[in-house]
Amino acid sequence: MNLSAMERGLLCQRRILAEFGELAVIGEDLDAILESACKGAGEALGTHLAKFIQLDTDHRQMWVRSGVGWKPGVVGHTRLELEQGTPEWYSLSVDHPVIAPSIALERRFVIHPFQEENGVTAFVNIIVYSPHDHKPIGIFEVDSRTPRAFSESDVDFLRSYASLIAACFGRFRITNAIKDAEARLRESERRLRIAVELNPQIPWTADPTGAVTSIDSRWTGFSGLQREDTLGQGWREFTHPEDLPTVVERWGEALVSLAPFDVQVRLRKNDGHYDWYQVRAFPELDESGRCQHWYGTVEDITERIRLETALREWNENLESRISERTQQLQEEQREREAAEAKLRQSQKMEAVGQLTGGIAHDFNNLLGSISASLELMHLRIAAGRFADVAKYQALALTSVRRAAALTGRLLAFSRQQPLDAKVIDPNEVVAGLEDLIRRTMGPTVQVRCELTSVGSISCDLNQLENTLLNLSINARDAMPSGGTLAIRTRLLEVDARTGQDKDIRPGRYVIISVTDDGCGMDEDVLRRAFDPFFTTKKMGQGTGLGLSMIYGFTQQSGGQIRIHSTPDVGTTVSMYFPLDQRNADTLTGTMTDAPVLPRDKGNGEVILLVDDETGIREVAVDLLNDQGYTLFEAIDSESALSQFDKLDRLDLLLTDIGLPGAMNGLALAKTLKARRPELKVLFITGYAKAEGISEGASLGRVLTKPFKVDELLDCVKAVLD
Ligand code: ADP
Ligand code: MG
Repeated sequence: MNLSAMERGLLCQRRILAEFGELAVIGEDLDAILESACKGAGEALGTHLAKFIQLDTDHRQMWVRSGVGWKPGVVGHTRLELEQGTPEWYSLSVDHPVIAPSIALERRFVIHPFQEENGVTAFVNIIVYSPHDHKPIGIFEVDSRTPRAFSESDVDFLRSYASLIAACFGRFRITNAIKDAEARLRESERRLRIAVELNPQIPWTADPTGAVTSIDSRWTGFSGLQREDTLGQGWREFTHPEDLPTVVERWGEALVSLAPFDVQVRLRKNDGHYDWYQVRAFPELDESGRCQHWYGTVEDITERIRLETALREWNENLESRISERTQQLQEEQREREAAEAKLRQSQKMEAVGQLTGGIAHDFNNLLGSISASLELMHLRIAAGRFADVAKYQALALTSVRRAAALTGRLLAFSRQQPLDAKVIDPNEVVAGLEDLIRRTMGPTVQVRCELTSVGSISCDLNQLENTLLNLSINARDAMPSGGTLAIRTRLLEVDARTGQDKDIRPGRYVIISVTDDGCGMDEDVLRRAFDPFFTTKKMGQGTGLGLSMIYGFTQQSGGQIRIHSTPDVGTTVSMYFPLDQRNADTLTGTMTDAPVLPRDKGNGEVILLVDDETGIREVAVDLLNDQGYTLFEAIDSESALSQFDKLDRLDLLLTDIGLPGAMNGLALAKTLKARRPELKVLFITGYAKAEGISEGASLGRVLTKPFKVDELLDCVKAVLD
């Protein structure tokens, strides 16, 4: 078959169009497609010079995006203004293909310099429209370096070509949009993943029947458990047996009610340990309210549970720990009290020690006067001068009483007694001590008591006596070559202003002061005088505890203590006690010389007297016989028991507590009372030990030595009655 040149040209155009059509549908690179388009069109029209000019979206500029046959520097580089007078502007304004067969003859537009430089003399162009919105995308142009008349069929060919290019742009617009969307999706997925990984809650899903359908991959790293083992109902396998029934029940309820699910449960890790987890889920419902999926999370809360448990235990133990601590504090308090009591006692013994020196001297004087009286009596009796006997006897008796009073005070004072606040009359206390203090001070110190009517105060009697003695001894020590010691009591109303000056609460106070005109204290000594163990005295003479104890005592009694001292002038120690409006209790243990009252005599009651001291026994037997009692004697418990066996009648056991042998007076009384319960008991004792006295008091009455004849008689009578 012989084909004309035109026919061959058409066939060639069709082939090129078909080939390009294929590329336009499957090509993946728009620039490669455009280049191939330019090549194909140049070839089909025999010029081998073509280009695609792309318009910017704002239609102000354009650029040579693709082309073939051009000198270097044109394709991809040349940018042009879309101005009036340019061929492109003209094409767009006429809106159909433009053919310029000879540029030299062209009057419609001005050719671009790059076209001239490339020897363009003719061209045909066609606008490529976007298939999406029909806006022009660019201009496809076939140029020629020789003048050339482009035919209608050339234009048709280019028109088909342009449609394919337009379709390509459409395809790429869509694929680019898809790629963009994909990239955005990938990015948001990436972000979600990061968020999920940062979140301590691990997501899972379940179907409407409650079977777990997925769990985040982190679950495995977390628990060591395989994801597949967790899916479906697999999770039951490693749920703590104690928690399983509850969890299954609650999950079942949630599946029915479609209410959010929230439990705390122990799950076994693959290392065998159980950890605490919080498992939550909520359902996703469709429009008709049916469950589509369950979305859930699982979170390790072991640490939180541990802290909560610790807190709870701590709270629960708090009570027991408080009571433990309270007990401990009580124990400490007891120990402290015991130590304080010991200290008080040793303090007192120190004072007693200080006193005994003075008292021994005094006692000797009394003994001297007694023995002198007795000797005189002896001489007068021998001389038959009976008239004087009574005088000397009275003299001796007075001395004996004074001596007894003195030792009585000493013993009462040194007795260990617990602190016991009583309402007392301070004047009575000072008066009761005056004699003792005077004797202690020695002949060079003059003692004066100036007592005014003050009312009562509330404090421990023993401590107050102790305090007065200590202050007196301090005063004596400050006056080695003698002087005057004054003890005064007075009432003072402290108002708000003086209260502030003296740092004492306003109110009415009883002041007991002890003043000496001794050496006084300098500032340094004064500042430290209340410090425990501060003393300026020689070893063995001072302990430095006196004033600190007194300070404690006044504080305990709600009072205050103040010292005024001037070196070489003297010292006054003033104790402030709050006035107590109550009436003072009567003081016990004070030895007053009560007159001997006539009393009823005994009626032949039988008394067993047990004492190892012959003197006492003889006196007591004579005395009680005189009063009409029948007396039997024993020197210890053993002889007392054998006497007891012989007696048909026994009304009273009168016994010393301290007896020689295995059995003391207390044990003897117990034994005899066991055999004769109605037996009365009276103890006489020289012991100052509180325990012995209190035990004795539970069995009968106790009379402490030294006692006066009347006291013994009164006691015996009272016990028998
Ligand atoms: P002590 O008498 O055992 O030394 P105190 O506590 O009773 O302990 O007294 C402490 C010190 O205060 C004494 O050593 C003395 O220096 C001083 N002091 C106490 N009372 C007087 C006083 N009346 N005159 C001078 N100094 C005193
Ligand atoms: Mg002292």
